[in-house]
Amino acid sequence: MTAGAGAACQRLFHLRSVICSVTRRGTSPASLHAPITPGIGPASMLFTSTATVSFIRRCCRRWPAVTTGMTSRCPDIRRKVPMPKIPTVVCLVAIVLLPACTYARDECVLVRDGQPMAAIFVPAEMSHVVMQAATSFQSYVRKITGTELPILAEEGFRFHQTVGLEKIVPQLNSVFIGPCEATAAAGIDPAELPPEGYRILSNRRALYIVGRDDDMTTEWEYRKSSTWTAGPTRQHGTMHGVYAFIEEELGVRWLFPGALGEIVPKRKNLGVGKLDRTDAPRLQYRLINPPPHVRNDSVAASRRLGISDQQRHQFIFDHDQWMQRMRLGTVGGTEMTHGHYMFWLRYGREHPEYFALQADGTRANPNKSGKDAVRLCLSNDACVEAFAGLLSELFAKNQNLKIVGYSPDDYSDRAVPVCVCDNCIAMGPAISDRYAIFYSEVAAIVAKEYPDRYVANFAYGYYMDAPTTVGKLHPNFLVLIVGYNRWAGAWAGGDDDEIRERSLEHSLRWAGIAGKIVWRPNLFIQNEFAMPRVYAHKLADDYRQLYATGKMIGVQHDHFYAHWGAEGLDYYLAVKLAWNPTADVDALIDDYCRAGFGAAAGTIRTYFDTVEAHTNAIAAQRYSRRAHLAEQDRFIRQNSGMPIFLGELHKQETLDQWQGLLRQAVLEAAGDTEVLRRIEMLQVAVTALSHTIAIHDLDCTIIFKVRDPKRREIVDVLNAAWTFARSNADTQGIHMPYAMSVCGLFRLREKWGLE
Ligand SMILES: [Zn+2]
Repeated sequence: MTAGAGAACQRLFHLRSVICSVTRRGTSPASLHAPITPGIGPASMLFTSTATVSFIRRCCRRWPAVTTGMTSRCPDIRRKVPMPKIPTVVCLVAIVLLPACTYARDECVLVRDGQPMAAIFVPAEMSHVVMQAATSFQSYVRKITGTELPILAEEGFRFHQTVGLEKIVPQLNSVFIGPCEATAAAGIDPAELPPEGYRILSNRRALYIVGRDDDMTTEWEYRKSSTWTAGPTRQHGTMHGVYAFIEEELGVRWLFPGALGEIVPKRKNLGVGKLDRTDAPRLQYRLINPPPHVRNDSVAASRRLGISDQQRHQFIFDHDQWMQRMRLGTVGGTEMTHGHYMFWLRYGREHPEYFALQADGTRANPNKSGKDAVRLCLSNDACVEAFAGLLSELFAKNQNLKIVGYSPDDYSDRAVPVCVCDNCIAMGPAISDRYAIFYSEVAAIVAKEYPDRYVANFAYGYYMDAPTTVGKLHPNFLVLIVGYNRWAGAWAGGDDDEIRERSLEHSLRWAGIAGKIVWRPNLFIQNEFAMPRVYAHKLADDYRQLYATGKMIGVQHDHFYAHWGAEGLDYYLAVKLAWNPTADVDALIDDYCRAGFGAAAGTIRTYFDTVEAHTNAIAAQRYSRRAHLAEQDRFIRQNSGMPIFLGELHKQETLDQWQGLLRQAVLEAAGDTEVLRRIEMLQVAVTALSHTIAIHDLDCTIIFKVRDPKRREIVDVLNAAWTFARSNADTQGIHMPYAMSVCGLFRLREKWGLE
């Protein structure tokens, strides 16, 4: 910093304190005037006149709102929501006192030498989305530069234009966030943007970030639509624009939830080159379901693992925030579930003929066979009408709801056979044909009243395969393609090329006849064991092929286990590719390594490539079904749920190779504590796999034989794994599902009180 700038800062600091005293305590004009030394430059000289005092006072009268907090259209928000700390108007006044500087011709300077050179303006009446976007912008400028830009109502901007300040102080720049008069004057119309889209525009004096938002008028509505672990339901275009700007222009990265996953480059100067770009998610539905233990809130299990309630809440908060920053979202509400039971509750008693005819002449009855035993008589026109009526009611109740999928109940058709009436059999040889016809007819009825909504059905389990005889289906019929069931390949550690190829083939065939498709894979299920795994290039290829059908409008990954050290790269890529399924996956991985691992980036990239090659080698292996079943029997008897052939698939030399690469990365990252902690996350996952293999090879039935001499040895192995799992239950390398699942360790301990 030059001597002149240093002196200016001192004056600025001094003046700020004086003005603060004016705004808060009503200091007299004379005392305001007195501390300012004359002869310090043209800009600050402006404020040595009595006109200055009157200007500041007028500011304070005109902008009362910004001195205490922002206003909102909604009275209850104004009353109840604690507003982020908003700097007073004095900040704006202080900014203009800085000496004139020289800048790159087209650069809009935001911060110079750690001093604020711009103010953030928001519409005087704004939605929660804009409020959140503006405070995020302010917060990241502060994290990067240590400098806080003031947030002011747009009214303040008009006032500063009126008095002609921009002519006297040419370096005062403006950041407009959310649709307001200035953004309209700049030619930005949010209504013209694609769903959830945004536009970022800048010139030398101003930066504009405006997105397409749904207007949320109550706090409840906003919170409900913004809890990412529960699934967002509204458009947050302005927020997407701000996060895209922070990531792409300011260089921030969010590799995983929490402070360690956030990469913030530090700078003293911040400026924006000339920009004009519009972007929007290619997929309108981008969701990743939270871990099941979060959804089910397993408080008791957390406490037993030594995770405090505060840690548990922090975990959920961090994940919500991460998903928001990674721009997951939807343009409307979705309700996609196994829902035939709801239909039974409505019509089971009155209309048994709507339900599947059984071989013994009775109708399917879940009262006898359980909740998942609802099967419909799909050829019954009255049943089609009634089903459409049920979905229409849901749409009528919730205008924001865009997709309803009440799919057949879970589990296979073995529990209760599908309908055996002649008309149902005539619908097609495969059950998928019958469901496709049924839902297409339902969609046609619903579309008469709700032409912009979708009726959905899973392609899943016994009705995963694409229909064989039906042609084009109704354009409002949406297929949720599950497939990719990793547990079906559990004998191979969850990865199996044959399953993947079959899933892809049928998915593409579904896309050929359905109105639209949403990909809803179970890629992360089955890895509660936290095995290190990289599916990167296949993941990108899955996205690319499905998106290329032109029918894909969304993706919903079913739950993941938050094992960020074991498969965090896959989670990151799954979310990044949801925004743009054609993104360059190698560029994304390189960027991930560079941002997160600094000097060790090259070695970490080699580590990920090595794990990916191993994951692919496992997927390519073939096991005979007979061997698989025999092994599975043994395995279910002993180890409840652990992948079989585990020791064969992950040889000790493979684990040694991985640990060797990670040790090398540690040497390269010496001195960088954050990078070292990120490498440690990867190391924890590899160590976890060593414990899993050790347990896998035990004959755990001996646990139940208290006098067996081998029992002690087994208990020692289990206890070592337990101690490791417990001490890492809340680290980001592996998360608590590891401890809860490995070898049924949790249950064994509960039952046998292992020490
Ligand atoms: Zn039937």
